[in-house]
Amino acid sequence: MLQIEQFIFGNDNFCVLVHDPESGETASIDAPDAGTIRNVLEKKGWRLTHIMVTHHHFDHVAGNEALKAEYGCRIVGPKGEADKIPGIDERLAEGDVFRLGRYAFNVIETPGHTAGHIVYHSPEAGVLFAGDTLFSLGCGRLFERGADAMWPALRKLKALPPETQLYCGHEYTLANARFALSIDPDNGALKARATEVEQLREAGAATLPVALATELATNPFLRADSAAIRAGLGMDGADDVAVFAEIRKRKDNF
Ligand code: ZN
Ligand code: FE
Repeated sequence: MLQIEQFIFGNDNFCVLVHDPESGETASIDAPDAGTIRNVLEKKGWRLTHIMVTHHHFDHVAGNEALKAEYGCRIVGPKGEADKIPGIDERLAEGDVFRLGRYAFNVIETPGHTAGHIVYHSPEAGVLFAGDTLFSLGCGRLFERGADAMWPALRKLKALPPETQLYCGHEYTLANARFALSIDPDNGALKARATEVEQLREAGAATLPVALATELATNPFLRADSAAIRAGLGMDGADDVAVFAEIRKRKDNF
């Protein structure tokens, strides 16, 4: 079984290590901080063989060069912004498959937060590493592409198996829940998830991973096509991209 270790660096950056015990290979999903990742590798007795980068933002690549110098690990990341990824060895695009031991990770391009952002989905392990494209109850800010790119990207993630466990770049869920309730106040599944998230954060626990099925029922950014949300926004006849853009705009100003 693929072993997964999730921990926090700084205020809210998730670090995730994945380890295939058969081959001994270990990958870090992004590299927010070399020292934090090294400590966990040592504690687990794992040797870092790969870094799987989702996008070029500094809080996701800051540890690349130090970890590569120390472990000689191979850095794979988005072809569309490869020139901004320190130490990149292999450029990945839509439809490419990255293999860690016997686990295949399908590469899905999700432009929006950055132009070249990619996410990694392993059907066999049942996990999605979504970087800053999809958060629990939220999505990444549209820095480099617009809603017309991000909504189709999110639709690709909506189509993945609902039992998929979602991992992402930041622990933003509590703040996201407050906004989501402002958009979708009568959603019982959202109210239940918001209560669960409050309890987890009070206990100092992470709110991730979470099943994609839960996000499909609760995340307003995945629900731009929901009748209840459209009605609440007074956008019954609008197209999905316009509804998604309006939700994103309200979150930016929340
Ligand atoms: Zn980012
Ligand atoms: Fe980030």
